[in-house]
Amino acid sequence: MPELPEVEVTRRRLERELVGKSFTQVVRRVSKLRLPVPEELTTILPGRIVRSIERRGKYLLFDCGCGWLLVHLGMTGFLQLLRGTPLPEKHDHLDFFFGDGQLLRFHDPRKFGIVTWFTGDPRLHPLLAGIGPEPLSGAFDGEYLFDAARGRKVAVKQLVMNSAVVAGVGNIYANEALFRARIRPDRPAGTLDPTECTELAAAIRNVLERSIGEGSTYRVAEETVAYYPQKFTVYGRGGEPCVHCQSPLDEIRLGGRSTVFCRKCQE
Ligand SMILES: [Zn+2]
Repeated sequence: MPELPEVEVTRRRLERELVGKSFTQVVRRVSKLRLPVPEELTTILPGRIVRSIERRGKYLLFDCGCGWLLVHLGMTGFLQLLRGTPLPEKHDHLDFFFGDGQLLRFHDPRKFGIVTWFTGDPRLHPLLAGIGPEPLSGAFDGEYLFDAARGRKVAVKQLVMNSAVVAGVGNIYANEALFRARIRPDRPAGTLDPTECTELAAAIRNVLERSIGEGSTYRVAEETVAYYPQKFTVYGRGGEPCVHCQSPLDEIRLGGRSTVFCRKCQE
């Protein structure tokens, strides 16, 4: 599933290629993904210029001047940047053609993605309005996290994966950040002290920035979409030795999600 680094890597690539370019044609092959795909995209967008491409949580926001194109990759979506008019394949649901010959193609086998249109401030869109601060922004720090965690019995891993608390921290990076901050994922959030919250906020930022710097777990928006498995410290390594103390890593389920940690190094 695309997580924040994948979306940010996509955003940066698309920003380089598409800002300042004008849409010439939009081809819509499905009427609905997770939400209806507005038919008006095919008439509104041609002639419009992409002014900027922003990100909020895992949403990509294309500023088209008269409104915003909102894109979410869902579970299995990705955006391919192609040239010319290659024939669509199965699950290629939308094509956005640009005046310079580029084609942005939305592919999504499971159709949990979102492609929609919004006029007005996109941050006020019902899907985006309740999203917490961006983890890479100054608004997310130890003090904020301590306030959000205070009095909460929920496991700290579930707290940081709640997008109302902080935007876009998915399962992989929650596991990695908690290991880095030496905090057990199943600790009740309210038991964290201010220092631990500062360490955890810094760890979240660090693992996300590192992944973005390495190009995230896969490269989207490439002509061929390839998966580049990263080396994770704990995620996907249940039963394997801890990189610090060599004891076997524990794997449990928390909120239905695989959770890997070291009983010796994390408390
Ligand atoms: Zn260990």
